[in-house]
Amino acid sequence: MNQLFDISDKVIAITGAAGVLAGGTAKYLQKQGAYVVYLDLFQDKVDATVEEAKKISDKCCGFACNVLDQAALDAVRDRIIETCGKVDVLINGAGGNMPGATVGPDQDVFDVNIEDYSKVLDLNLKGSVMPTMTFAKVFKQQGHGVVVNFSSMSSPQALTRVLGYSNAKAAIDNFTRWMATEMALKYGDKIRVNAIAPGFFISNQNRALLTNEDGSYTERGQQVIDNTPFRRFGEQQEVYGTIHYLISDAASFVTGIVVPVDGGFSTFSGV
Ligand code: NAD
Repeated sequence: MNQLFDISDKVIAITGAAGVLAGGTAKYLQKQGAYVVYLDLFQDKVDATVEEAKKISDKCCGFACNVLDQAALDAVRDRIIETCGKVDVLINGAGGNMPGATVGPDQDVFDVNIEDYSKVLDLNLKGSVMPTMTFAKVFKQQGHGVVVNFSSMSSPQALTRVLGYSNAKAAIDNFTRWMATEMALKYGDKIRVNAIAPGFFISNQNRALLTNEDGSYTERGQQVIDNTPFRRFGEQQEVYGTIHYLISDAASFVTGIVVPVDGGFSTFSGV
């Protein structure tokens, strides 16, 4: 492989690694030779994911870890260091939405449930800030490390109905730039923080929102397609290459950016 993109000596921790996008990315990176640590909320999901991953290679392990639990994050980070001696990359893939933090099709703007709104902000913002802070301490000691956050197309423009998730992802863009700047100014150019902003991919969270049981698009799904110049949803493997690039030496002068992977959604005016 081209040396610039060689990640075979890297130890990569990924949250949300039992999910669609982060989970697919994790397996892809393991196939490229990296040692991958699969992190997700529940032990049974982690066990099933690691069982699958072991079919790729032995260079993997997994832990149940709530990204909002500081003690669990510290424990996992310390276990990785004990086992692997270092950690090179953190990918913050855990995220998701809740109906109460959105305005339903038949609801009023004022029906947003503030408790659910807070939970969605916590998962999608603090759920990346806390792991980043936890692992960045090791990056500081080692003198190197890379973070990749997951933003979304709900961040740059107003996406109708989706309040909490959009607010959190907009804050992720800002956090990406802030953390990139602070780490570089204080600890040098070997610590980088970037984000990927996927357009619309079918995941466990949004399948029912975007597609009907027969595979046709819902009204919402059709609106998305109408606003995506490629006229389709993304395939999960279409995020892998961007993340591979961001964590590799090919991106050694790249920090603080948010890369859209969206079939043109962010460039399109709708007319
Ligand atoms: P997914 O629902 O398939 O995976 C998310 C994973 O996060 C799940 O396995 C879940 O168990 C885990 N998780 C939830 N809460 C957690 C917690 N507290 N601690 C640890 N793990 C937790 O979703 P996905 O589509 O693969 O999304 C991955 C990331 O990409 C998310 O941040 C999501 O917001 C973002 N994203 C997805 C899309 C899309 O279209 N699918 C678009 C833009 C951004």
